[in-house]
Amino acid sequence: MATDISKLRNIGIIAHIDAGKTTVTERMLYLSGAKHRVGRVDHGTTDTDDDPEEQERGITIFSACVKYRWKDFDINLLDTPGHVDFTAEVERCLRVLDGAVTVFSAREGVEAQSETVWRQADRYEVPRIVFINKMDREGANFESVLNDIGPRLGGNPVAIELPVGQGPPHVSDPFRGVIDLIDMKMLEFDPETEGKQVNETEVPDELRDDAMLWREQMLDAVYDLSEDAAALALEDKEVPREMIVSALRAGVLDRKIQVVLCGSALHGIGVQPLMTAVGNFLPSPLDRPPVEGVDPKDREKTLVRRPDPKEPFCGLVFKILPAKTGDNYWIRVYSGQLKQNSRVQCPNRDKKENIAQIWQIHATKKDRDGQVETVGAGDIACVIGPRFAITGDTVCDTQNAIELPSIKFAETVISMA
Ligand code: GDP
Repeated sequence: MATDISKLRNIGIIAHIDAGKTTVTERMLYLSGAKHRVGRVDHGTTDTDDDPEEQERGITIFSACVKYRWKDFDINLLDTPGHVDFTAEVERCLRVLDGAVTVFSAREGVEAQSETVWRQADRYEVPRIVFINKMDREGANFESVLNDIGPRLGGNPVAIELPVGQGPPHVSDPFRGVIDLIDMKMLEFDPETEGKQVNETEVPDELRDDAMLWREQMLDAVYDLSEDAAALALEDKEVPREMIVSALRAGVLDRKIQVVLCGSALHGIGVQPLMTAVGNFLPSPLDRPPVEGVDPKDREKTLVRRPDPKEPFCGLVFKILPAKTGDNYWIRVYSGQLKQNSRVQCPNRDKKENIAQIWQIHATKKDRDGQVETVGAGDIACVIGPRFAITGDTVCDTQNAIELPSIKFAETVISMA
């Protein structure tokens, strides 16, 4: 089944170590219907995978990219390491993803390493949304984290949710759900079902004034982003929901704002709305600027490639994982189509490469780790066959060569010092 590029999201989760990146990832995969995969990172295998080849590939799930479906979106979730030592790794992922979810801990807030990854994302012009996690922790403070994002990171956060309660179950008003400020609904999550069951109700009277105040703040940002919305507000007319969502989306894509959500990944609270927000607010490959490179035969000549399956193929090798069955080359396809049993050019090595097999690693059993015949513009896949390319190299159509900017690790390390 061909992937609809407008419904494709290539995302990463970037966070300070311990903010909950792994827990958010596992929860997203669980909620997308991939329970059997969760925990694999700890155990290295599951009881259903006896085939060693299968196991070997499965382990790459959390170390490269996993595909899952949520509503009508196809999400490629790229692994971004959370430790500062791996800053170059984070940088490499930022190069190939289109949008990011930044996770902060509601207790620890914006930490030094959050600043590092935030600035890296700025450098690569990555649009992002924010998830304030660990709302169930003692001392969790949504507002304080939100208020830090501007001064500490130069961000412009816009809350589209308000937490219902804060802190662990034993406090008088524990965290139990969120108010969706766009639809003005209260969402409560059933802990028994680990966040699968969501009860949607009217905002209760005692929370209504507070929620209206927060909604006004959100709408102020919408008026700044959309003249149409501002005009309606001046006439005292209701701004339609679609206009609010599209203004916020445009604001995120232009990197003028970051929409902010909150929850507890550990208990599955607030993760479903986060998954929907990935689809609603983060860019598809079509929303990103076309890639530029040079003609390997004439380096003065700039070439441009668009995320269109009809353009000549070009892609970037962003990760190579050794495997007994043939090294796994992870490739982000920027234009055209990559086909099984074809040959491509690697201009950086001046070599031709064989594309023997193409794999996409799916989170759900139903469409489990699948070998595919082609992978189209905007998508990400694991390829077996190449031998010469190294990380950061371009692979492209043999008749229409282009060399994309490489991934500069050395520069990154120096600039972090
Ligand atoms: P990472 O280093 O960012 O990948 O963070 P992890 O996902 O490994 O989480 C770090 C620790 O925080 C683990 O002990 C998690 O169980 C815990 N944790 C993650 N999310 C939550 C949450 O929402 N609430 C609470 N109370 N603990 C959490």
